[in-house]
Amino acid sequence: MRTDTGMYFDVESFAAIAARAAQTDAAGSIPEENWQELADTGYLGLFHPRHLGGSGADAAIQVRAMEALARACSGTYWAATVSSLLCGNLLATYGDERHHDLIRSLATGERLAAFAIVETAAGSDAGTYRTLVRRTTGGFTVTGEKSRITNAPRADLAVTLARRDKPAGDDGPDWCLAFVDLNQPGVRRYDIPHMGLRGMPWGGLVFTDAHVDEADVVPVPFTELAEGMTWGWLLVSVAAVATAESALAATVRHARQRVSYGRPLAHMEGVHAQIADSRTQIDAARVLAQRCAARRVAGDSARQLIGMLKVYATEMAVEVTQRAVQIHGAAGVTSGHEVERHYRDAQMNVVGAFATNRLREQIAEGLGLGPAVYRPFDWLSPAGLSRP
Ligand SMILES: Cc1cc2nc3c(=O)[nH]c(=O)nc-3n(C[C@H](O)[C@H](O)[C@H](O)COP(=O)(O)OP(=O)(O)OC[C@H]3O[C@@H](n4cnc5c(N)ncnc54)[C@H](O)[C@@H]3O)c2cc1C
Repeated sequence: MRTDTGMYFDVESFAAIAARAAQTDAAGSIPEENWQELADTGYLGLFHPRHLGGSGADAAIQVRAMEALARACSGTYWAATVSSLLCGNLLATYGDERHHDLIRSLATGERLAAFAIVETAAGSDAGTYRTLVRRTTGGFTVTGEKSRITNAPRADLAVTLARRDKPAGDDGPDWCLAFVDLNQPGVRRYDIPHMGLRGMPWGGLVFTDAHVDEADVVPVPFTELAEGMTWGWLLVSVAAVATAESALAATVRHARQRVSYGRPLAHMEGVHAQIADSRTQIDAARVLAQRCAARRVAGDSARQLIGMLKVYATEMAVEVTQRAVQIHGAAGVTSGHEVERHYRDAQMNVVGAFATNRLREQIAEGLGLGPAVYRPFDWLSPAGLSRP
């Protein structure tokens, strides 16, 4: 698996990051050496063409490298890939040549980016987000709060979805993407402690009339939100496949070593069946992920297929890690055990980048089934709930 720049990625490429994964989880932060190694290996540049500081790797190489890093350390993978793949691609899609230096800085690791969409009061229901961009002299300001955002506590810039405060006569889109410099007085950040992916920085961004340059506000129709989300679903699905694979590898090792009733667990039919199910499900998800990535990198949105991948892969990883914990017995529920970490990480992927229940609904809507839009909820009718 060599890129045209001669780079090579497999699990061994990130062996040092893998060796620190338990400590990264326990400490709740990514060690500086990890960032240095991501820059040195060229991982951060994989997703971009050479003229933007990347290596121009094809889809197969990208997915293989993503899975290798996610196997080494899921928290590190999330942080790095949200910045370089997701935010980098959005800057490339919606920005122009004025944003090329920003993309280059993500591809080299000089800057870290966050994708700031979700708010405290609304996650799935994106139409109710309130963050607002207003025109001022010399550019724009942004005001609002984004919450549960990967990289928020340490990112340098945020690709932010916001409403536009439209002057009379402006019949452009109601929404925009704002590329916000986070190192300024109008931005406050906070951490949110989390169950899994503990090394990954995660938290909130409070914008109080934060400045945004004229060139950094791009009006977009609301439907374009799905463009960024689709990169997110792919990214999360690969994380799920990797976490499941790591849990299965640990389970196979354990089943060979642990003796019960005079024989290794690996010689028991019930254990065979569980391990065979895990192997089958992981490979099915991986093949689908490779197909999705190939279509996406070739320029096809593949939104519906990637939505299905996200539902299948993330829920599959929860099942596989749950079996891994079960086959490890009490060791598996011991804090600090490898499969205990994978189990916590797997659940994060089900909710991150759009919870799968909501995605199921979108998949059904894509088949022409309703409802695409909910009617206003009647709190006072007998069928409704009483107001809180
Ligand atoms: C690891 C992780 C990383 C994240 N990183 C980011 C990030 O970088 N940027 C960002 O903007 N956000 C991020 N998020 C937030 C994430 O996008 C939201 O948590 C997610 O969209 C769900 O929103 P919510 O948590 O508010 O749940 P809610 O919207 O309150 O939903 C709660 C439950 O109800 C279900 N539900 C809601 N509406 C429907 C419906 N119409 N039909 C069926 N079921 C429904 C959901 O599926 C879910 O199970 C991250 C979250 C996690 C866990």
